[in-house]
Amino acid sequence: MKNGDALKVNFGGFVPISTVDWPGRAVCTVFFRGCPVRCPYCQNRAILGGTDLREVNEVRSMIRSSGFLISGVIFSGGEATAQLEPLAALAAAAHDLGLATGVQTNGVYPATLSHLIENGLIDRVALDIKARWERYPNLFGVDLVTEVQRSLALCRSAFLEGRLKEFEVVVTLFRGCESDVQYIAKAAGEVDLVLQQGVQGKLPPLTDHDLQRVADQVGHRVRIRTRTGGEYWYEGNRDRWIAGER
Ligand code: SF4
Repeated sequence: MKNGDALKVNFGGFVPISTVDWPGRAVCTVFFRGCPVRCPYCQNRAILGGTDLREVNEVRSMIRSSGFLISGVIFSGGEATAQLEPLAALAAAAHDLGLATGVQTNGVYPATLSHLIENGLIDRVALDIKARWERYPNLFGVDLVTEVQRSLALCRSAFLEGRLKEFEVVVTLFRGCESDVQYIAKAAGEVDLVLQQGVQGKLPPLTDHDLQRVADQVGHRVRIRTRTGGEYWYEGNRDRWIAGER
């Protein structure tokens, strides 16, 4: 790999401090430009394409500038895992600064996730699963389901074997798609599940109450994230789980 002087990252932006990107930590967030997917609800459309090449060392200085305010770095986008070399270099640089590292990903680059995990460069993965597997080809126009399934499998194994400290599956949920959650929860298995309120156009978003009713069907605790309610663990209807009424 090139060193930080020569290596460039297609840069999407930098947030010096965030308290929402990694539960329980103050972090800085580095956005990578570019994503092969086009979700209609994407909130970062401005950085899905285009070019803004920066030296890795310049971005490292940004991370360093957040100093004692943070204990970790989140790599987001766009799709950070599309840029293996600069992502690996920045993750290594963050570790050298004593910071924990996390990535938010759509999972379409399993080789990058594998590289980060096998080299001990990443501490946390938040993997978006956007629908039940059968619906993936219709969502993206191209069939990326195999890649996402590989990412899920390798992250879950690494997490359960202790090679990845934190792993969660994130579902951005829209009204009318509630039934997908049980399929996704089953595919995810014994890892944390986050139900995130989807907001798109004039479609009324699911409320906290709606999401809690969906979570009740999952059969284990779920983290719920909404604009109005913030983010919290929902323990659900334990009596029904115990009785097997799922
Ligand atoms: S995968 Fe993420 S960054 Fe890419 S279009 Fe969808 S929401 Fe936006």
